[in-house]
Amino acid sequence: MVKIKLPDDSSKEYESAVTGLEIAGSIGKSLASDAVAIKVDGELKDLTAAIDHDVAIEIITRQSDDGLEILRHDAAHVMAEAVKELYPETQVTIGPPVENGFYYDFYREESFTPDDLEKIEKRMHEIVKRDEAITREVWSREEAIKFFKDQGEYFKAEIIADIPEGDLITLYRQGKFLDLCRGPHLPSTGKLGPAFKLMKLAGAYWRGDSNNQMLQRIYGTAWANEKQLKAYLTQLEEAAKRDHRKLGRQMGLFHMQEEAVGCAFWHPKGWQLFRTVEEYIRRRITDSGYVEVKTPIILDRSLWVKSGHAEKFANEMFVIEDGDRTYAVKPMNCPCHVEIFRQGTKSYRDLPLRMAEFGICHRNEPSGALQGLTRVRYMTQDDGHIFCTEEQIKAETQSFCKLLTSVYKDFGFSEDEWVIKFSDRPQTRAGSDEVWDRAEKALREASEAAGLKFTLNPGEGSFYGPKLEFVLKDAIGREWQCGTFQLDFVLPERLGASYMGADGAHHRPVMIHRAILGALERFIGILIEHYAGNFPLWLAPLQIVVATITSDSDEYAREVAASLKSQGLRIETDLRNEKINYKIRDLSQQKVPVIMVVGNREAQERTVALRRLGGKTQEILALDVAIDKLKAEAASPY
Ligand code: ZN
Repeated sequence: MVKIKLPDDSSKEYESAVTGLEIAGSIGKSLASDAVAIKVDGELKDLTAAIDHDVAIEIITRQSDDGLEILRHDAAHVMAEAVKELYPETQVTIGPPVENGFYYDFYREESFTPDDLEKIEKRMHEIVKRDEAITREVWSREEAIKFFKDQGEYFKAEIIADIPEGDLITLYRQGKFLDLCRGPHLPSTGKLGPAFKLMKLAGAYWRGDSNNQMLQRIYGTAWANEKQLKAYLTQLEEAAKRDHRKLGRQMGLFHMQEEAVGCAFWHPKGWQLFRTVEEYIRRRITDSGYVEVKTPIILDRSLWVKSGHAEKFANEMFVIEDGDRTYAVKPMNCPCHVEIFRQGTKSYRDLPLRMAEFGICHRNEPSGALQGLTRVRYMTQDDGHIFCTEEQIKAETQSFCKLLTSVYKDFGFSEDEWVIKFSDRPQTRAGSDEVWDRAEKALREASEAAGLKFTLNPGEGSFYGPKLEFVLKDAIGREWQCGTFQLDFVLPERLGASYMGADGAHHRPVMIHRAILGALERFIGILIEHYAGNFPLWLAPLQIVVATITSDSDEYAREVAASLKSQGLRIETDLRNEKINYKIRDLSQQKVPVIMVVGNREAQERTVALRRLGGKTQEILALDVAIDKLKAEAASPY
């Protein structure tokens, strides 16, 4: 008798040894068809493995994370089988599941082409239709090595030779294809289903070592069903359409080049966008009681040693040697703000002191981590530090959260498009537990009082204090950390900042590090993708283009442009000797929100034909009406 315990604590009894497939079948038809593997006492096994003693099990379905990983792993095997059938001279190496899919590395003299990928994919579907049984076999090391060598599979033979003595060598057979694998696998190729697609080709060195042979890696994606596959492909398409690097080129916003890796060259339109964002934030913080400062970019390294940044940013600080002095390019603005605070005597009446800077920081991020504007080496933070007393933490937290919420809304994000994470004390930290208790309590109470919905991020606080992180979700669900609010009881101590209390004694201020947007470069990258380049008028770097139908209306176009410009609108004229439809297409590519078409009739009647980006129709308006309308629309939300 075999007793099987199920996850809901019920159990089933079987006369003799039983397989996962049989257990699933005895529970229900749909479970049997969704089952891809079984967890036996916590260990993943094939559905066909015999269970002959009492155990606790869990049926793994294709929709679960474990199930998807198995499907993806099987997809890699099926791809290798297809490749071997089509190109028998190929040697197989390894093929693991990865996020969203799988890959397999092949060795072949000739290069695979995109056409080959199509053929391979087609053959994979045939193999799935053949529904070949996938069976596990235990081999001896010598036999396995000999078998693969005889097949001309030298990479595989090498892998087997490296398996530690005493480990079981298991091969999985499907049709005529045998691969070394620990498993588990699906019971048959048919179970893989049709929801997979080959994505791209890449090069990869054998064992990741550039001294070794170059292999050809084929990437694919695989999902539990066709609906999931389709959703994933749509998401990729949408991401590609919104990619800020592509739109940045198309809209003439910025470029990047080898000579300044990770640093943006802002073109006039991109810089206009940057300044619009910066000036908006400047208005907001000025009205929220901040004073703006500007501090040096290059400072003696000793300051960074004192502040602790030299240790924390050991590998990310750019260092400059000059004779007997060593300078560092600032990775953060904080110590500079403490230095300003320390000038002259501060009293409790000066607190809270809110100091802001559009601080230019450099961090030597590894080149592999860089990505357009969203991961850069040169960044401008909308940085700020609030020096206050412990009693003031609550009010400062509340007013900051209110400000941030209002800013995000103005930039077009709705409240369900960001999440807030509360990070508390990490393992290694500065300051006593008593100080941490107080800081966490203050921040928590203030966040609750501000009505924030946050999730706890245990142990993820800074070494100097707990923090709130504001994470924006972009149009396709990716998350970006932007805003931050961090309590710090350590840096004022390290750098010797103090104020005179009402009691006439010196006290340490609390320092709050806060940013609303984070790095402006990254935030603008997110904004471009959020709007897919179709900015609301107040953000659009170029708001209106006056385009002529024929050169007869050039003069009127210039007059219209001058009137718009005098009202503070950002305009250009398009007087090119081109057909109007061509101009409209071209300007739409550049994502110009409004095109004003003018011809003889408009000149005579002193009207304009207004066309919106993506719109099919145009609106004829008197010139002064159009100007008033657009001016109102282009007004900054603050
Ligand atoms: Zn700071």
